[in-house]
Amino acid sequence: MGSFADVALPVAVDKIFTYRIPPELQQAAAPGVRVIVPFGRKHATGLIVGLPEESSIPGLKPVRDIIDADPILPPDLLHLCGWIAQYYYAPLGEVLKAAVPHGFASPSRQVAELQSPVESTILEDLKLRAPKRAHILRLLQEHGPMTPGELAKRSGLKSINAALHQMAKEHLLHLREVVHVQQGRVRKEQVLLPAEADDSRLASQIELPNPVTLNDSQQRALEAITHSLSRSEPTTHLLHGVTGSGKTQVYIEAIRQCLAFDRSAIVLVPEISLTPQIVRRFRSHFGSRVQVVHSRMASGERQAVWRAALSGACSIVIGPRSAVFAPFTNLGLIVVDEEHESAYKQFDASPRYHARDVAVMRGKLSSVTVVLGSATPSIESYANATAGKYDLLEMPRRIHDVMMPSISVIDMTEERKRVYALLKDALPEDKRGRLKEFRQPVLSELLRERIQDRLDREEGIILLQNRRGYAPFVSCPDCGYAEACEHCSVTLTYHRPKRELRCHYCGLVRPPHDVCPECNGHSIRLHGMGTQRVEEELSRVFPDARVVRMDLDTTSRKGSHDRILQVFSAREADILLGTQMVAKGLDFPHVTLVGVVSADTQMLLPDFRSAEQTFQLLTQVAGRSGRSTLRGEVVIQTHQPKHYTLRHVTQHDFRGFFQQELEFRRDLAYPPYSRLVLIETKGINEENVRHTAERIGRLLKMANGTFTVLGPAPAVITRVRRQYRWHTIIKNSREADPTGTRLRDALSGVLAALEKSHQRSVRVIIDADPVGLL
Ligand code: ADP
Ligand code: ZN
Repeated sequence: MGSFADVALPVAVDKIFTYRIPPELQQAAAPGVRVIVPFGRKHATGLIVGLPEESSIPGLKPVRDIIDADPILPPDLLHLCGWIAQYYYAPLGEVLKAAVPHGFASPSRQVAELQSPVESTILEDLKLRAPKRAHILRLLQEHGPMTPGELAKRSGLKSINAALHQMAKEHLLHLREVVHVQQGRVRKEQVLLPAEADDSRLASQIELPNPVTLNDSQQRALEAITHSLSRSEPTTHLLHGVTGSGKTQVYIEAIRQCLAFDRSAIVLVPEISLTPQIVRRFRSHFGSRVQVVHSRMASGERQAVWRAALSGACSIVIGPRSAVFAPFTNLGLIVVDEEHESAYKQFDASPRYHARDVAVMRGKLSSVTVVLGSATPSIESYANATAGKYDLLEMPRRIHDVMMPSISVIDMTEERKRVYALLKDALPEDKRGRLKEFRQPVLSELLRERIQDRLDREEGIILLQNRRGYAPFVSCPDCGYAEACEHCSVTLTYHRPKRELRCHYCGLVRPPHDVCPECNGHSIRLHGMGTQRVEEELSRVFPDARVVRMDLDTTSRKGSHDRILQVFSAREADILLGTQMVAKGLDFPHVTLVGVVSADTQMLLPDFRSAEQTFQLLTQVAGRSGRSTLRGEVVIQTHQPKHYTLRHVTQHDFRGFFQQELEFRRDLAYPPYSRLVLIETKGINEENVRHTAERIGRLLKMANGTFTVLGPAPAVITRVRRQYRWHTIIKNSREADPTGTRLRDALSGVLAALEKSHQRSVRVIIDADPVGLL
């Protein structure tokens, strides 16, 4: 055992701290174990990441105490975190903090995990036999681990200890010692664990799955995956299956195989609240072996899941990107559903990791089979598959050979002209002046007709308008003044219910001007349309139709997604209208019409991924239509009917889109031909921001690396939350620097040079493989 400990602390400094381990603690020191160390004038919780035999640093401070008897992080996961720190330019302490939910929490609030799961039948039985104990179990299940003291307080029960010991004997719960530290004083206390963190209310809703026999292409996919599993091969399979081809069923059977090999599985989904259906399906197959993590979970609940994975009390974890860190020691399989989703990239905080890529790396480091699934794979993943780095599994047909929906594209410029001409003819000469007020119709005649048809036949309708609020643009037609945010360089969106303007970047809310502040004009107008405007139009044209709207504004409360989807699923609403949320993974057999109110919201953004993201969004939303016996139809409205993205969407031609897009990427040396690193410089003082950005640009150019540099230049959105933003984009050649080490070296040199005379008021953010360049 070494006499020194390298310790990661949750600080934004890219540094590992070394401490001396006093002899009495050396036995217990191990990588992945938490320690209490002096830091500054206080104590901090850190994680041992290495145990060097020697250290040349004089006067090292001693480790104060060791918290865990066993590592809370398996060694391969620690290794993975090290890779993330390096690849995404993040301090290891921050990576560990993101990976381990309770890693650095003050140990005084630490509690440990559950052991064996409690069957719901036992709970029922107990309710009759011993209501007091049932009450205790229920509390533990609802609120997570607690100390006896907390439990006594919450339950109102006296002399609780005897009951607890009895229950522990009967294996209903587990008592475990954890260390509590308060103001540097260490004491031991008992903590109780619920035997199962699972939500018992959910358990009662579970229907049993219908037995399914996989079709041929599902069977082939499953065999390939099982083959890798049986040999513990770190193969990455890309499961490219059209919408409704039965990918989820393949995941389920692959997991069944994985469990049969006595190994555990992780399922990543882009956002758990958007996919209640998929969670229900997994639960119906695997019951309490599944644990779900979601972003709105309290930290105690999250810890309980973590502990359950670590101890083997559960064998499947489903969750958003952070679930990639579930600490299974016998992991066999990672499934990444909808692998193309940008939600897998953490873009707003360090570490800026991409969970899909981390999953692939974890597969490599831990000999785990990885399955990436999508109807619209990312260009990068598909390129990896065609290059033979991933194993490509194609499922080109829907289950039961259900036909893909027919897709029509409506040219809204033509539509506008047509309607205008009709109105003009209908109006007498002297009233035609009114036509000046004529605006773009929200719904084309074809879409209106199709909606009416589905309403008559009582079939489901999904409408996509990928913009929330009422109108994204409010301006004065006389002088061109536009309502804009004071803190961000974006226009404000008009929201109907409270008649207010909102900034979608910083949350600013203010009333609109009645009179133009520039020219005193009185005709300030609303332009463009968000979901609220579409909703209004629907109630005007189809007064009897029942519409539910799903966007950020209607789903801010916990469980609201699920409620909206339930209403639509139970056919208590005819039309589900919403932003991209309605495009994701939903499976409603009664939906036969999907309408895209405007395909243009994303297509023309100045970002090299905008065509790809538009293709994905439109194909995904189209895939919600006609998934069962009824043939589906899709109507897409656009001002760019000839755009190549739309051509491929209407023909269900992923391959064709991929090839065309790849050519464009090659010409401009964008990924997958290069790796991008975005350096964002931001701060309140524009001059300082520019200065730092230019300095970075100069240093990079001097570094003479394997990359080209775009910028530095003001970002497309030049100001957000009062901070000016400058971007420098590095395009690193994959050919010249396949492992990325040369870029990393060059960049560390630049950062070190920058450090010396760094302006504190300017933040420098490094984002490897950025998903958005705006
Ligand atoms: P995807 O994930 O590719 O969109 P799903 O796995 O959700 O597809 O399958 C679409 C529908 O077909 C679901 O309702 C699912 O239960 C059903 N399904 C999947 N596989 C089969 C099968 N082999 N036989 C019958 N039904 C199936
Ligand atoms: Zn703002």
